[in-house]
This record gives sequence, C-alpha cells and structure tokens, in this order.
Amino acid sequence: MKVYFLGTGTSQGIPVIGSHHSVCLSSDFKDKRLRVSVWIHWEGYSFVIDCGPDFRQQMLTSNCHDLDGILFTHEHADHTAGLDDIRPYNFKKGPLPIFADKRVITSLKRRFDYIFETENRYPGAPSVIVNEIENDKPFAIGNKTAVPILVWHGDLQVFGFRVDDFAYLTDVKTIDAHEIEKLNGVKVLVVNALREEPHATHFNLQEALDFIALIQPERAYLTHISHLMGFHEEVAKKLPKNVFLAYDNLEITI
Ligand SMILES: [Zn+2]
Repeated sequence: MKVYFLGTGTSQGIPVIGSHHSVCLSSDFKDKRLRVSVWIHWEGYSFVIDCGPDFRQQMLTSNCHDLDGILFTHEHADHTAGLDDIRPYNFKKGPLPIFADKRVITSLKRRFDYIFETENRYPGAPSVIVNEIENDKPFAIGNKTAVPILVWHGDLQVFGFRVDDFAYLTDVKTIDAHEIEKLNGVKVLVVNALREEPHATHFNLQEALDFIALIQPERAYLTHISHLMGFHEEVAKKLPKNVFLAYDNLEITI
C-alpha cells in the first residue's frame, strides 16, 4: 500500500495569506503545506482521507486519476470544503462513495445541499453514495478493512482510521484508552502535531511525540502542521530517529 501526503498543513495552509512570518516566506518546498489529506492506494484501489479546499490541486499534482471513495475524519472546512471538485470522478465512474459519521453526513448535507438533492438535481452536480460509519464497526474499502478510531478534537468526536498496519489520526487532542488498543501493532502511524506551543484542540509537538512513544510504531509521521512549528529542516533535526515531519507530495510504502 502507498500513502501519499496530499497536504500536511493546518487549516490556513502554509504560506498563510498575507503573512510575513519567516516560515511563510521560506523558499523550501517542504515549508509549503496544503490542507491536510492523504491518498492511500494499492492494487488498483484508491481512496483519500478528507477532501479539503485544496482537493482539486492535490488530485492534479499527485496524478490521482481514479478514486473509489473518500473517508471523512470530521466536518471542519479544512477537511471537507473540496467536495464540489469530485465531479471529474463522477463523470468517469458515477457517484463516488463517501464514508463518514452520521453527524458529519448531516453537516455535509447542510453545506452541500445541491449534492444531496434528490429532486430537480442540476445535471452536472456532484454525486455521492453515502456510507454512514460508526465506531467499533470496521468497514470495507476495496479488498481491505478500515477500522474507525474515535479521537477527541477538543470536545468534537473525530475518526482516525487504521488500514492493515497503517493508521492515520488527525486533529487529535485526546484519545481514550480503549481506542488506543486499536493501534496495537501498528507499524506506520501518522498523527497531527500543530506547533510547539500547546493548543486547545490539537496535539502540540511534545504531545504527539509522547503519543508515538506510547504506541511504538516502527515509523511515525507528523502532519496538520502550522507555520508556527518552524522551518521543516530545523524541526526535522530535533525529532527521534523513527519520527518524521511529513511534507506535501511525500509518498511512503507500507
Ligand atoms: Zn483540521
């Protein structure tokens, strides 16, 4: 299985519009971060986790020409705002399966009402097949199983996902002990780390490193990064040797 980091930035992306912060002005391509998302693909199957405002650009840059579905972690705009841009996949293959918690589906229906309209649909409107997912109910994606992992983004429930020995958790601040058990034996863990300073709804760097030390994967990658984290090159040097700062367009093999 390949995991392609489509975006590794926090909600505003890096550079932040109008910012004169040195990281926003950096010429290192690793300091340019679109909104957070990954593309996972294997043996002709292709899924993305989240579909933020940079979705179109990410699909073009990664050459992701086929998509079998979108898994949503939660409804925040940096994870969902690109949903209108699934149309090229619809024109090719028909309605696109989406997998999300009931609350997230309700939110998508409100914000993208025209996508879910059943009567008098605009002919070119995006179309989806809704798959409501629940915690403790693993579900099929292609010939593999995705295990939802419930985490807390402040007081908002968010889903992370485990597929085989790979797990992707973003927008985590806390996680209950019985959910941590679902990560037993995971070899590659992706987890959010916003910046060094604490934040109310995201792991900071130390919290992410402590969590990784608890899970003990072979390798871990940090994502959902703010410009306040600092320069990629400098932060990368400070990390334990099995922990990497992810960057946009990095592709890893699981
Ligand atoms: Zn987010």
